[in-house]
Amino acid sequence: MTQTTDRPASAVTPTTEHELERAEAHSAHNYHPLPVVVAEAEGAWVTDVDGKRYLDMLAGYSALNFGHRHPALVEAAKQQLDRVTLTSRAFQHDGFAAFCEDLSRLTGKQAVLPMNTGAEAVETALKLARKWGYDVKGVPADTAHIVVAGENFHGRTIAIVGFSTDPDARDGFGPFAPGFTVVPYGDAEALAAAITPSTVGVLLEPVQGEAGVVVPPKGYLTAVRDICTRERVLMLADEVQSGLGRTGHTFACDAEGVVPDVYVMGKALGGGILPVSGIAADRDVMDVLHPGQHGSTFGGNPLACAVARAVIALLETGEPQARSRELGEHLHARLRALPSDLVGEVRGVGLWAGVQLADGMPRARLVCERLLERGVLAKDTHEHTIRLAPPLVVTREELDWAVDQLEAAILDDASRG
Ligand code: PMP
Repeated sequence: MTQTTDRPASAVTPTTEHELERAEAHSAHNYHPLPVVVAEAEGAWVTDVDGKRYLDMLAGYSALNFGHRHPALVEAAKQQLDRVTLTSRAFQHDGFAAFCEDLSRLTGKQAVLPMNTGAEAVETALKLARKWGYDVKGVPADTAHIVVAGENFHGRTIAIVGFSTDPDARDGFGPFAPGFTVVPYGDAEALAAAITPSTVGVLLEPVQGEAGVVVPPKGYLTAVRDICTRERVLMLADEVQSGLGRTGHTFACDAEGVVPDVYVMGKALGGGILPVSGIAADRDVMDVLHPGQHGSTFGGNPLACAVARAVIALLETGEPQARSRELGEHLHARLRALPSDLVGEVRGVGLWAGVQLADGMPRARLVCERLLERGVLAKDTHEHTIRLAPPLVVTREELDWAVDQLEAAILDDASRG
């Protein structure tokens, strides 16, 4: 490891500072990024405009599960760039059928529908559930109802933020789409009680990422599956962040052997190269959509299909999932061994952890700033939680080093007081 850690605390170098100021002047202020400007990246490491290296312990919120610029993914993209990149769905291209076949095989579902961003894929699942409700279940027109979980994060569209329980996500953006009921996450009884004759779907993250890597109680997903089957309601699993290797399984639902009716995927499906998302479902559900009823100009484009096929090939080796399982156990053991006056609860599964700082410790944002100075990229979520989600190519030694830096970064601020 060649990271430099001898830089004085709080140093933002002139080049970094200049770039941050330029962006501040001309971009919307809808993010509050840490003060680093990345210039290059490879594997689990990034280099900033000043030449300083950082271990990436966030991995683009799981979009970079296979690391930065994975050679097989970059190669697939390059080959496709030299042939054809976009056709729109008005015409088929020669990578589309293979992509659909591959993603069907990976999900075990009969059909897929590609989109671009995670939020679009979630919207697609919601539309599909409503259409299925009217066409198949026989729910009266315009009354379809969907149950979602508290503390959810499914994206930023108006329909989606309308059922968020986070005031920052929601306030000031109404009026919202009707037809959603929020129940506490992890409480199967509350979910069952919320179901009405007009309920068409239950939308859940199998592990809640943005909420701080919240793993539901054992048996919850199985109970949700049973309720959905019994009540004839579609189980929509938002695996945008939890899926494609992050938890040590291809899908987080696999941990309980649960098969949802609809998988919602995104982030890592694009291999960290471009946005690729989509849903997968069996024919009896997917076929309620007919030409003209849903789509996207860029969904399923040739470049996206080429990269996603290479992503699926990586997942079909089982190696990323195995690494996440094995290294994840190590990471969690190391995190749980941190002094309890520094760290409270450690949540998560596989190479995915929400580290809740102990009472009286500095705010998570401050700790992430100290981590940055120490050469580690991580992100706070809510006030007291640090989220760790390294690329699955990270090594055991790098994880050990990152945990050492985390402990030191908390102490840095605890001692500054
Ligand atoms: N669903 C989940 C579970 C997510 O974590 C996210 C993004 N954090 C989204 C959907 C939205 O994805 P995107 O930002 O690509 O729209």
